[in-house]
Amino acid sequence: MAKQQFQTVRGMYDLLPERRYIFDYVTSTFARAAEDAGYGRIETPVLEDEGVFLRSIGEGTDVVDKEIYALTDRGDKRLALRPEGTAGIARAYIEHGMGSRPQPVRLYYLEEMFRYDRPQEGRYRQHQQIGLEVIGEANPSQDAQVIMLIQRVYKRLRLPNVTLQINSIGDATCRPKYRKALVEYLEAHKKQLAEVDRERLAKNPLRVLDSKEPSTQVILAEVPQTLNYLCDDCQQHFAGVLEYLDDLGINYELNPMLVRGLDYYTRTVFEFYGEREGAQASLGGGGRYDGLFEQLGGTPTPAVGFAGGVERVVLELEAAGVLPPEPKPDRVYVASLGEPARLAAFRLIEQLLDGNVPATGAVDRDGIGAQLARADKLGVPYAVIIGQKEVKEGTVLLRDMATGAQETLKEEAVVAELRRRFGIT
Ligand code: AMP
Repeated sequence: MAKQQFQTVRGMYDLLPERRYIFDYVTSTFARAAEDAGYGRIETPVLEDEGVFLRSIGEGTDVVDKEIYALTDRGDKRLALRPEGTAGIARAYIEHGMGSRPQPVRLYYLEEMFRYDRPQEGRYRQHQQIGLEVIGEANPSQDAQVIMLIQRVYKRLRLPNVTLQINSIGDATCRPKYRKALVEYLEAHKKQLAEVDRERLAKNPLRVLDSKEPSTQVILAEVPQTLNYLCDDCQQHFAGVLEYLDDLGINYELNPMLVRGLDYYTRTVFEFYGEREGAQASLGGGGRYDGLFEQLGGTPTPAVGFAGGVERVVLELEAAGVLPPEPKPDRVYVASLGEPARLAAFRLIEQLLDGNVPATGAVDRDGIGAQLARADKLGVPYAVIIGQKEVKEGTVLLRDMATGAQETLKEEAVVAELRRRFGIT
């Protein structure tokens, strides 16, 4: 049989240790900010009943029509890999009766999402998101607070030039009127619309608004705007959000074309952009989804949330060269020469690890010089050298890698000495 070599599935990537720490830096900075502000971490399963996403995200959206990873399990149940976090969390909120907890319930998540997207830089079929939800509060101050929190995270990460765009898309009272006006307008200009937008017009007309097609863009210059159709309540709510942002000195841009890709949004929608061009510029976005809980069989519950891509943030940080210092834990490299010494080295590494001293080395077949060169490359502060002579005498050589100074220690004293030098108490 021919040898088969496997590769990662298209659109998915391996994250190797040398880049992992940047991802960890992004997620831990976010988690810290969310925890500080009173959010609790939630984890929901990767697999959900397919209906959770179809009912909430909505048919006629790209995510549901083209991108969802759906499967039938061995019991003929229709399941889907999570393409986003909010629907599963709303399902969990209802399932666990979280409506009886003090409101609002603040939740955050760090999870991988799956979308059968067209892969390119910044767009993958498995990607990581940071996200949060404030459930059970309709006040516009919550929308502003979520935006503030995300701004704080991006600022702490030292992301350069993040911009915020915001819009309101109304609710069940006023959106149908807007939708009608939009469809009338687009129908009247159907001939000039790009092919893909004619399809969107038939299935989900609001999606035409964020079309990147040049011919559609021309038509959009005069398209009816959501803000002109808001009912009094929606208008007041949006004015409230903007007032809070103004009050707190947050810069934003009103973008009447901003609608976001998922159906469950109501009222406020917002999006953060980085410096990159095109469709991959969005670092994250969110908004209100006051109608979602009813769609999933719960009682009406107002909520606002945010979801952001981790890879996009990492790419921005890498491009801007604002990376966190690579964590290099102080570690001991144990080098040995000859069989009995190798055994002694192996034993010493275990003793060091038992004593909470990070240590590596041992089963080398190279000479001491090559082993020390490797220790140097790893950037360890100390090496322990065990040769035949040391084994016979029950000693080891402790080498300070920075100065090259070596001293002889009794074998049984090494762990305590290294604990002392590393300040391990
Ligand atoms: P969305 O739910 O589509 O608004 O996604 C939230 C954020 O996740 C976006 O702003 C992106 O930063 C990120 N994102 C969405 N889809 C992908 C993808 N296929 N690959 C990488 N990041 C993504």
